[in-house]
Amino acid sequence: MRCQICKRQLTAVESIAQGIGPECAANYASFVSGCGLTVGEIGVMALSGNATVARQIALTNSALRAVNRRDATYFLNRAKDEYAQKDFTLETLAEAA
Ligand SMILES: [Zn+2]
Repeated sequence: MRCQICKRQLTAVESIAQGIGPECAANYASFVSGCGLTVGEIGVMALSGNATVARQIALTNSALRAVNRRDATYFLNRAKDEYAQKDFTLETLAEAA
């Protein structure tokens, strides 16, 4: 099992379970919180079934692998906007019903 971000071999059981090494996990958490989100929220967004959101998150991770924080921020914000829009739509539909 390799780290999803840097592709280094993972050895610690906890790292293998998370699919990410401790250094990358810390960097990822700091990047994500800089975008006003938590790692848990990204997980919820990624598993929301919204293909556009999932794609933007995958692009975010690719940009992070390439150590391109500017693109990563752009893609994560697009994921966030898309996800927020979906929530808004659902709320609007519920209100209209
Ligand atoms: Zn790593």
